Amino acid sequence: MAERTLHHTVMLHSAARSSLPTPAALADANAAATGLLTDSLGRPLRDLRISVTDRCNFRCSYCMPKAVFQTDHPYLPHSALLTFEEITAITRQFVAHGVQKIRLTGGEPLLRKNLEVLIEQLARLRTPQNLPMDLTLTTNGSLLTRKAQALKAAGLQRLTVSLDGLDDTVFRAMNDVDFPVRDVLAGIDAAQRAGLGPIKVNMVIKRGVNEDQVLPMARHFKGSGITVRFIEFMDVGHSNGWRMNDVVPSAHLLERLRAALPLIALPAQSAGETAQRWGYANAEGQHDTLAGEIGFISSVSQAFCAECNRARLSTEGQLYLCLFANQGYDLRQIVRSGNPAADNERALSVALRAIWQRRQDRYSALRGQAPAAQETRDSTAQKRIEMSYIGG
Ligand code: SAM
Ligand code: SF4
Ligand code: SF4
Repeated sequence: MAERTLHHTVMLHSAARSSLPTPAALADANAAATGLLTDSLGRPLRDLRISVTDRCNFRCSYCMPKAVFQTDHPYLPHSALLTFEEITAITRQFVAHGVQKIRLTGGEPLLRKNLEVLIEQLARLRTPQNLPMDLTLTTNGSLLTRKAQALKAAGLQRLTVSLDGLDDTVFRAMNDVDFPVRDVLAGIDAAQRAGLGPIKVNMVIKRGVNEDQVLPMARHFKGSGITVRFIEFMDVGHSNGWRMNDVVPSAHLLERLRAALPLIALPAQSAGETAQRWGYANAEGQHDTLAGEIGFISSVSQAFCAECNRARLSTEGQLYLCLFANQGYDLRQIVRSGNPAADNERALSVALRAIWQRRQDRYSALRGQAPAAQETRDSTAQKRIEMSYIGG
């Protein structure tokens, strides 16, 4: 029955969708989930990023530039969004296949009504080893003051807040909706008071726009228990006008920071970690854990595809295997097939296994090998999904 479901009801293809794995792949993928799934390059499935809305109250120029995302922008209708129950049913199968970390994102995830209900459901999931999920969320922080306590009570453990500078004029220009820095800082305080932690702060750097904010940001959060991560401006999607010239390579930032701060390299904490870690050193040259650390996410200058263990689920239930993918797999069709829940679960499990096993995405690594494509976007850019649709 589940086999029939996959072949006849679940069409994982359309103009922007990838085709269903071949019958041979599906037959091969028939075994039960073991939590040990690897892709065609030997990368396990560990991290699932779930976008819960494609809407946002900010218009960051590197993500949702105002000129493109206007008031009449065709956002997804409510009926297209996965319900919380559908998200949880899909996530349960990802967890059975090895996912240990779940990140809620968007758009702005805190705009999704009753998000706490979804967090409660996801917090109850357990790995095949009966361990709880590492459950986190990325937010622009604008609604955190109001929501931090409810998020914690629902079972959220930690979170990442995006903040692109401390200078109010610079930050208001970057979010392009005149949102003040002080309200994001108040949100971060509220999250700390609610016991959410460790907290990370993401800062995207655009040359000539906020690079002068890097040192003040590092200094401000030093010793606060909060880790700032400096992110290279990426060529995601097709509407943010990306040019290589706007990217400040992490190596340059590190050089500037080391001239002012005592930094030492720290080892990665886990396989597939996106950030390179640098800690503040004490007088003996050892890591001063109270002073904390900073991180660099160098997706443009130093690709980390070789260890990429992340899958992404869009707001409407499309599974993407890479941030730069232009085709997804329609998992919503499976959960809305009308078949009994147990059949859908099995169909999801079989599909996930087959899809992940044949994954070979490594966009950033390939871009790094084709220097000409580094100057501007490559020819596939027009079809690529937007960051606000799939989440970071
Ligand atoms: N709205 C939330 C926020 O801003 O934190 C969550 C979604 S946002 C798409 C997730 C992360 O992606 C944010 O930290 C954001 O700064 C980052 N981001 C968005 N566009 C980017 C780009 N072109 N290059 C690098 N990072 C980007
Ligand atoms: Fe919104 Fe986050 Fe994109 Fe900024 S980065 S526009 S806050 S989704
Ligand atoms: Fe992973 Fe794709 Fe980014 Fe490479 S480019 S690290 S495969 S998301």
